[in-house]
Amino acid sequence: MISNFLQTPIDYLKGVGPNRADLLKKELGIITFQDFIHLFPNRYIDRTKYYKINELQQSNADVQIIGKITHLKMVEQTKGKRLVATYKDETGSMELVWFRGHKWVKESLKLNVTYVIFGKTNWFNGVFSMAHPEMELLEEHEQNLRSAMQPIYPSTEKLSNSGITNRVINKLMQQLFIESKNKFAETLSPEILNRLKLLPKNRALFNVHFPESQELLAKAIYRLKMEELFYIQLQLIRKNLIHKSKIKGYPFDEIGTHFNTFYKQQLPFELTDAQKRVIKEIRNDLGSKAQMNRLLQGDVGSGKTIVALMAMLIALDNGFQTCLMAPTEILSVQHYNSLVEMCSKLNISISLLTGSSNTSQRKEIHQNLENGTLDILIGTHALLEDKVKFKNLGLAIIDEQHRFGVEQRSKLWHKNEFPPHVLVMTATPIPRTLAMSVYGDLDLSIIDELPPGRKEIKTVHRYDSNRLKVFKFIRDEIEKGKQIYIVYPLIQESETMDYKDLMDGYESIEREFPKPKYQISIVHGKMKPADKEFEMNRFIKGETQIMVATTVIEVGVNVPNASVMIVESAERFGLSQLHQLRGRVGRGADQSYCILMTSHKLSADAKARISTMVRTSDGFEIAEVDLKLRGPGDMMGKQQSGVLNLKIADLIKDSDILKIARSLAWEILKDDPALKKPENASIRSAFEELVRYKNIWNYIS
Ligand code: ADP
Ligand code: MG
Repeated sequence: MISNFLQTPIDYLKGVGPNRADLLKKELGIITFQDFIHLFPNRYIDRTKYYKINELQQSNADVQIIGKITHLKMVEQTKGKRLVATYKDETGSMELVWFRGHKWVKESLKLNVTYVIFGKTNWFNGVFSMAHPEMELLEEHEQNLRSAMQPIYPSTEKLSNSGITNRVINKLMQQLFIESKNKFAETLSPEILNRLKLLPKNRALFNVHFPESQELLAKAIYRLKMEELFYIQLQLIRKNLIHKSKIKGYPFDEIGTHFNTFYKQQLPFELTDAQKRVIKEIRNDLGSKAQMNRLLQGDVGSGKTIVALMAMLIALDNGFQTCLMAPTEILSVQHYNSLVEMCSKLNISISLLTGSSNTSQRKEIHQNLENGTLDILIGTHALLEDKVKFKNLGLAIIDEQHRFGVEQRSKLWHKNEFPPHVLVMTATPIPRTLAMSVYGDLDLSIIDELPPGRKEIKTVHRYDSNRLKVFKFIRDEIEKGKQIYIVYPLIQESETMDYKDLMDGYESIEREFPKPKYQISIVHGKMKPADKEFEMNRFIKGETQIMVATTVIEVGVNVPNASVMIVESAERFGLSQLHQLRGRVGRGADQSYCILMTSHKLSADAKARISTMVRTSDGFEIAEVDLKLRGPGDMMGKQQSGVLNLKIADLIKDSDILKIARSLAWEILKDDPALKKPENASIRSAFEELVRYKNIWNYIS
């Protein structure tokens, strides 16, 4: 089949026309034949089974029933009229209801003639009803062959209101198969089909729309899922390979004085195996002639900072400058302090640039960057300002990637003629399957091991009514010399109200923990940066025992003496946020605690989040639950959800297929990067078509 056929606008399919085409486009995004043929059924129902009215169950499911309309009446309601029919079979009676299209229904329906109706039943006050049933005269019904696996297509209210019912879609699909003569070009190579025992493309397409048997349907679905995931992986991996071959980077082949001195003499602790492995991966990237583009995932507290430092030392040893960008001022300051301390014995110049750096500080930084005397620059978004010009930026490290937009990331690249190597660090564990699909074009390093000696943080759920006991617990911990975080939600839309909650909470804590015995810090987003820093520093230095804060402290803050994290209104936080917050404690040698406070009213999702937190502290496990609760689109944010808009595969349920698809794509591209070998011809042409018509890069950074 020539590919142009599939690019025919859907308007040209017999039975569609401009109005329907418009609806299909608006409601389902269907523009071409190609789109339509890839409109896959959500599920299949058995149309060879007929129910008796007395067999109906209260759970509403799709059923078909043979019976007769005995009576038709109009019922007036405050909200409008509805047309109600009494529908009977030999076992009982039920109602059919129409809220719209009354005229047409009244004119076309016949009383006391046998129909087959199909639709979802509702049960109310002892009566079953079906709204807007699909109806066919029994005679007609018997002429149309019914399948035990009738596809049910995705639909919208607008579509069914406009008469584009499931049956209509089904008919149109038949029409398309007739017009195409079911000759769809094969998109996978014979070798793959053979090895994985996959159905050919046209067989699979036919069976997904018109199943010949359960077995063939299952095979069809498997084949189409494999194909979908394979081409996503092929694009991602290809992009990665092209990147590596085309985008040159400065080769850092020296492992010199700074790195060696630090590694041999100044390491503050022994590195974990995971840290060593990741540093090796980074060294390999930096030593190659391609630009590094690596994502470093590691749970909170897994020790990413030292990895970043060692990567920076390699850059310095090769005569380049480096920068480390963090999402908040507090975090930048903390990075600055810990790097200055760790590098105190090395001859390195480090500066901090944030929104609150003053003019003379900025001037000095700008100068030293340009003349090359400044080695490491740490800071916030301020690093992206136009005046910041490096003499030779060789490595850019970005901490907590999810806080930065894609454009911001690429801005750093344009500081130089050669792009610097880029290391993005995140403490938000992304389930592997999702990472493979969304970040498949980045290289991935994972620190999957915490430094030794960490005690598991004890996590409990407490209701607001138990507050007094919680206060007593806080008092006891402070007695032991420990520090406490109390975090309030701050969600933008209701900021004023949240702000009030925070202030009320602060006041009640002040009453409960009076000065001068107790000192309390408060940090929130409405404070001036300098005030925030001042309060934060009091807590870091141990001058205050309690830190009342909003989620501004979520990321990266490190106060090892803090042993208790109390999260107020924990039901309002997302799982990854709760996990981040909990990661603020458990950084010292002593037992730490996380107390999740909630009201008694909890939604099912909130309960699931809280119980997950209580059950496990494994960031990857938490991320998996998060993915199940929220779905991949929400989890990754808007920009990336496009690629996850899969037609048939499901990233969670089909992770096994994804793994096979990914290794297959790797194998093929390794052997034949340009897809030029004759045996890959079908893959190449399918791939080119995909890139031509559906450029998934619109969605990906
Ligand atoms: P994160 O990955 O969350 O950025 P950090 O780099 O801030 O974690 O490290 C958390 C804490 O663990 C720091 O106090 C750091 O000094 C310490 N740490 C990191 N690696 C090790 C290690 N291998 N052994 C002992 N402590 C470590
Ligand atoms: Mg960190």
